[in-house]
Amino acid sequence: MSEISRRDILAVGATSAVLTVTASQAAAQGVPASHAKGGQSLSNPGPQNPLIDKDNPSAFNPPTTDKGDMPNFKYSFNKEFNRQQSGGWARQVTVKDFPISKQVAGVNMRLEEGAIRELHWHIPAEWAYVLSGTCRITAVDQNGNHFAADVHEGDLWYFPSGVPHSLQGVGPGGTEFLLAFDDGAFSEDDTLLITDWMTHTPKDVLAKNFGVPASTFDNVPKEELYIFPAASPGALSADLAQSRQPIVPEPFNFSLMAQTPIKTAGGTVRIADSTNFKASKTMAAALVEVNPGAMRELHWHPTADEWQYYISGHGRMTVFKGAGRAHTEDFTAGDVGYINQGDGHYIENTGSEPLRFLEIFKSPKYADVSLAQWMANSPKELVRAHLHLPDGFLESLPESKRPVVG
Ligand code: MN
Ligand code: MN
Repeated sequence: MSEISRRDILAVGATSAVLTVTASQAAAQGVPASHAKGGQSLSNPGPQNPLIDKDNPSAFNPPTTDKGDMPNFKYSFNKEFNRQQSGGWARQVTVKDFPISKQVAGVNMRLEEGAIRELHWHIPAEWAYVLSGTCRITAVDQNGNHFAADVHEGDLWYFPSGVPHSLQGVGPGGTEFLLAFDDGAFSEDDTLLITDWMTHTPKDVLAKNFGVPASTFDNVPKEELYIFPAASPGALSADLAQSRQPIVPEPFNFSLMAQTPIKTAGGTVRIADSTNFKASKTMAAALVEVNPGAMRELHWHPTADEWQYYISGHGRMTVFKGAGRAHTEDFTAGDVGYINQGDGHYIENTGSEPLRFLEIFKSPKYADVSLAQWMANSPKELVRAHLHLPDGFLESLPESKRPVVG
């Protein structure tokens, strides 16, 4: 029986009388053992928001192992203001709305066919994952080297700090993508735009700068464009042919799907960081796929906080902190999770489809520490003295890492 149907039973019970579910009654109703409450109250006769409750079953009814208070580590793009413009939209999750997320900010953006996110730059580096369609990306670096590429679903890009760039939807479906910046306070509304600078510079200065008459700039837009409709771009080769300068030495795009994933019994992991995606000097990421019933193993990250974006499926993550604290939240497509550097965590697939999510770090290299690998490679008597584990258990642990266990 699912969480929802059990909740329906509770709702029916609450209309007639206060209902208390004991562990044995819960078991009889098919409630997962981890959620059986041993006589603790599951009654809830007061006001309810059933829509929020349905997406957050672990909030009202946490595992009995959860304890204590900790900063909120779940957010969703669906709760954010959507900046809708002709040709596309953008919404962002920053430290302002999601206070734990100090190291990374995220933007979810849509560009219809031909629509352009205007030429701009910013100081935080920009890492991206293409969620749908095709995007034409362009940039010119500080040495005048140029870059243009068409990126497709599952591809990444990375623009270093201060390097100017543009994004454009290609083909009938346009594109949608996730951006991650290596600064949780970064706002997509504070980027430096080419129209803005032109508009806020006197025309005689522009004339002097470019060596042309001031009237050249009579039609520059008076307001920033940000996202605006345009014709679909021509062939990529034609765009690349418009500069005779060299191409950037380290490509700003990366094909994550071209690599052979780490495959385990429970799913797959694909890692991109500065070791294989050379340009990505400040950001590392993993695309994780967890099969139904499987789990991203108990682990932590020694070098950076983790910013998560859920792409599809349903998952439940528990985060463990010092002082014996543990807290569980449920996640689905469009949700954002955040785990502080060093905090233990695991993610279970609670649905019937594969759970797919991104782990993103402000770090040049991907790094995680596996609880199982730590135990397997430590002196056995030492570990047994702590945990009183039965003979043979530690010997059964594999010495190599299994990021997704099935
Ligand atoms: Mn940008
Ligand atoms: Mn992790």
